[in-house]
Amino acid sequence: MRKNTEKAWDVLRELTDPELPFLTLNDLGVIRDIKIKKDNFIVTIAPTYIGCPALSVIEDNITGELKKVGINALIEKSFSPPWSSDWISENGRKKMEEFGISPPLLKDRRNLGDATSKKVRCPQCTSFETEKVSEFGSTACKSLYRCLACKEPFDHFKCV
Ligand SMILES: [Zn+2]
Repeated sequence: MRKNTEKAWDVLRELTDPELPFLTLNDLGVIRDIKIKKDNFIVTIAPTYIGCPALSVIEDNITGELKKVGINALIEKSFSPPWSSDWISENGRKKMEEFGISPPLLKDRRNLGDATSKKVRCPQCTSFETEKVSEFGSTACKSLYRCLACKEPFDHFKCV
């Protein structure tokens, strides 16, 4: 049975997010635990943004991929502690920038009093001279920003 949890990690580590296909669920910190409880194979996930339409797709992808390797899994959702954008891995943040999305600021930085430290950096030219255009970008979990230096619009992944 323990072997199965390892096998499941091998499969799920590669699984990508439906809305951000260049990021794995693991990069996003969505998959919290894989365990066996009373003969049930349970994958615990932390849903990202509440009401994110991708959630049911994520669940189907997880159970579907595990079924392919002979594992019938149940999904358990964990809401406490609630998912935080701080759980996105360093690698995930780098990949976001490569794809032109400004990654969420870490909580430590958001809590600093200094206004410049809270500024969103342009993923194209790395300028901090940016402004928010709209609360909602291409999806509900992103805001639309504009860079005042290179004039390019870009998405900023919201911080929670
Ligand atoms: Zn720019």
